[in-house]
Amino acid sequence: MPKILGKIGLLVLALVAGAAWLVILRLKSVPVPLLVVYGLLLAASAAGTLWPGVLGRRRVLTFLGVPAGVATFGLYLAVVYHVTDLPVLLALAAVACLASAVPRGRRRADGGATRPSRRVFLAGGAGLALGALSALAAGHADRRRRDLLTRGEAQRQAAIRAPGARRRIADGKVRVFPIHTGDTIVTYGQFYGGLDGWEGLNGYLRTLLDKAQIAVPVHAYLIDHPRHGLMLVDTGVNWEQAHDHDGYYGITSRLLTERDEYRLTPAQDLRVRLARLGYDAGDVTTVFLTHVHDDHAGGLRHLPRAEVVLDRRDWDQGVLYPHSFDLVKERLSFPAFDSGAFGAFPAAQDHFGDGSVVLLPAPGHSPGHMCVLLRLDGGGSALFLGDTLYTLPHLATDQVRQMTIGGADTVHQIEAARRVQRLLAADPGLVPLFAHDNTRYQSDLVTAAFTDGSPGEAGLRELRRHMEAVLTPGWRLRPGHTPHFVPPASGTGPGRVEFR
Ligand SMILES: [Zn+2]
Repeated sequence: MPKILGKIGLLVLALVAGAAWLVILRLKSVPVPLLVVYGLLLAASAAGTLWPGVLGRRRVLTFLGVPAGVATFGLYLAVVYHVTDLPVLLALAAVACLASAVPRGRRRADGGATRPSRRVFLAGGAGLALGALSALAAGHADRRRRDLLTRGEAQRQAAIRAPGARRRIADGKVRVFPIHTGDTIVTYGQFYGGLDGWEGLNGYLRTLLDKAQIAVPVHAYLIDHPRHGLMLVDTGVNWEQAHDHDGYYGITSRLLTERDEYRLTPAQDLRVRLARLGYDAGDVTTVFLTHVHDDHAGGLRHLPRAEVVLDRRDWDQGVLYPHSFDLVKERLSFPAFDSGAFGAFPAAQDHFGDGSVVLLPAPGHSPGHMCVLLRLDGGGSALFLGDTLYTLPHLATDQVRQMTIGGADTVHQIEAARRVQRLLAADPGLVPLFAHDNTRYQSDLVTAAFTDGSPGEAGLRELRRHMEAVLTPGWRLRPGHTPHFVPPASGTGPGRVEFR
């Protein structure tokens, strides 16, 4: 009886490990029918190994075990393997060979034989050769990465030197420059399906099953302030996240993220964008990080002097990819949010004490998400929303909603959206600026209004006029502005979003 219980326990363990592996494969877009067949093969070989029955151990191994092993290795090579794995794989094979050599040699010695057998020589020799290959492969992976980084640097330098670069304008005005730092690939439902069941655990499960994807922009914002210097709201994606994804993330994050989750051209690199606007990354003194997600924190490593201001709750509970913070851990600063209420927000932080930058806690998307309000010249203001609302249509939060975490977090997220609505309604000089807006609002109007960084009253009015053309005063979408998913024409790759 205890023996059968032990076997059942082993089977459950094997099934749990197999299920986790299947989830990883699905995250990497392996088709569901293939995963079903493969999952059945795994389950059958686990059960067959524990209870060989009439088939016998040998047949179970031949018809279930070996195919399951080959399929597992093949899937690993197809979707997980990265060149830095090769030295590890070779080292493991070397250890296996050496281990198989040692006990055989001993047995012979016990049996009185004076010479080790040929098999011992072969296994030992193969082990040593594989060990040497492992060292060579490690050198190769290292050289390959260095080449990749050198090539990236050459491309960035060329992008900086391309015609059309500008000089910093120092005339005492507050300037804001939207910086498009690459794109991120997300499922359409995660971006727009919050009201169609993309919420909480259900949302995550749907992320596994529904692979209708879109590419959306990642925006950071540079602020050149006459009194407070050079600042950034968020920092976008860095070059390695987009071009050396597996090397940058290491094995655990690599298993849980897609290789092509980010795209970044040399011209979109934060350092290049700053240089083209006439600035140096080393001159940025403050970064307001709306939250710790990696498409907002990637550029931190390029800002050697900046103080990084973020909500402590995000740092304590929300850091998924701590290595993006490696170079700034000593320069973090956590606001106390003790400056009293601000409009619809019950707490706020007047960061410099002069009302020029106000930090507004807006948890929900992450435990310590915050929005940033910046006073512009002439009475207007910009409200940097981070991921509180992805795009302008998301302001119609009862019609268009991004995926939410579920439970209290969803409630907080909607609360934050309503506070933003009330702030916008109360101040006609306030314009919202989004981190992922993929509509005409960002690509045409915000880009045009902030061409020289200072939109003026007329520029802000233009942005508000567009906002009112998209949304009613009751925060409903007007006709022609509801997002729809359009599948890719070729059947592969991300689709598009059409507003109609
Ligand atoms: Zn986020």
